[in-house]
Amino acid sequence: MSSEKKVVLITGGAGFLGSHLCDLFINKGYKVVAMDNLCTGDLRNIEHLFKHPDFEFYHHDVSKFVFVPGRLDYILHFASPASPIDYLKIPIQTLKVGSLGTHNLLGLARVKGARILVASTSEVYGDPLVHPQTEDYWGNVNPIGPRGVYDEAKRFQEAITMAYHTYHGLETRIVRIFNTYGPRMRLNDGRALPAFIGQALRGEDLTVFGDGSQTRSFCYVDDLIDGIYRLLMSDYVYPVNLGNPQEISIREFAEEIIRLTGTSQKIVYKPLPADDPKQRKPDITKAKEILGWEPKIDRAEGLKKTYEYFKNLPKEEWFKDPYQFPKKS
Ligand code: UDP
Repeated sequence: MSSEKKVVLITGGAGFLGSHLCDLFINKGYKVVAMDNLCTGDLRNIEHLFKHPDFEFYHHDVSKFVFVPGRLDYILHFASPASPIDYLKIPIQTLKVGSLGTHNLLGLARVKGARILVASTSEVYGDPLVHPQTEDYWGNVNPIGPRGVYDEAKRFQEAITMAYHTYHGLETRIVRIFNTYGPRMRLNDGRALPAFIGQALRGEDLTVFGDGSQTRSFCYVDDLIDGIYRLLMSDYVYPVNLGNPQEISIREFAEEIIRLTGTSQKIVYKPLPADDPKQRKPDITKAKEILGWEPKIDRAEGLKKTYEYFKNLPKEEWFKDPYQFPKKS
C-alpha cells in the first residue's frame, strides 16, 4: 500500500453493512482495512475485494486490543451482532463488541488522529413511547430483557463516544440506524425480511410473530450507506437517525413478500418475542437538514433487488440450519 491515499478502517467489514461500506470506500479511491472476527460476518461478502491492491483484511475481534500499522484517517465501527436471534445466542459477545470494542477503537482513533463514526441503532429507543422517534427521545429500554445486551451496549457506545469527543476532543460521529435490508443479509439471521423470503423460497409458511400489528420502517441498504458517508463527512457530532420513514405493519409486510415471491404458502402466527417494539419509524428531519439526505429507493424496488439476491444464492444456502451459531470467544 502506498501512503498518499486516505485510509479507512471498517470493523464488521465482512458483515452486511460493513461489506457495503468496504465497496463504497474502495469505489471512492480509499484504502480500506476491513476487520472482522467472522462470528456473524462472512468472507463471501468481500471476497471480490481481496484482489484489489487497496484492500486488506484482518481476522480480528475488536473486543481485544486493536492494532493497525500506519496511517488511519477514518474508522467506521460496524462490528456487532444485529438481530434478536444473535443476541440470544451470543449475548456476551454482543455486549463486549459494543462496549470494550468501542473503547478500543476510540483509543485507536486518538492515537492515529482519525475521525470515528460508530454504528448505533434505533434500539436505543427501546419499545418507544414517542412516535416517530426523534433523536432527542431518550428511549424506553429494558436493560435485563433479551434485547438489553444489544440496546445497553449501544447506549454505552454512544455515551463513551460522546465522552471521547467532549473530554479528548476526538472527532466523532454517531448514526442511529433503523431497520435496513438488502443483499448480503444472512438468510438465517432470524430477522423478518430474510426469514420471510427464506420461508417462501423453501416453500414453508411465513411466521408472523404476535398478531403482526407491530410496525417497522425498512430502508434499502444503498440509501443507508449513502447517508452514513454523508454523516462521516459532515461536522455534526450528535446522533443522527438514518432510515426510511415508510412504515408498515409486519402482517402487511409478510403479505408483500407473499405477493413478491408468488409463494402459495400462508401466514402462520407465533408468539411475540419478549420486548418486541410495537412501533418504529424514524423522524429524519435532522438527516434532511444537516446531510441533505433522504431515502430514494422505495420498498417495492428494494424488495425486488433483495429477492433476486436470495433467489440466486446456491440452493443449499436456503436450507442451512436457520439459527446456528457455532463460535464462542
Ligand atoms: N418477525 C416476525 N417473524 C419472523 C421474524 C421477525 O413476525 O420470522 C417480527 C419481529 O417480531 C418484529 C419484526 O418482525 O416485530 C421485525 O423483526 P426484526 O428481527 O427484523 O427486527 P427488529 O425487531 O429488531 O426491528
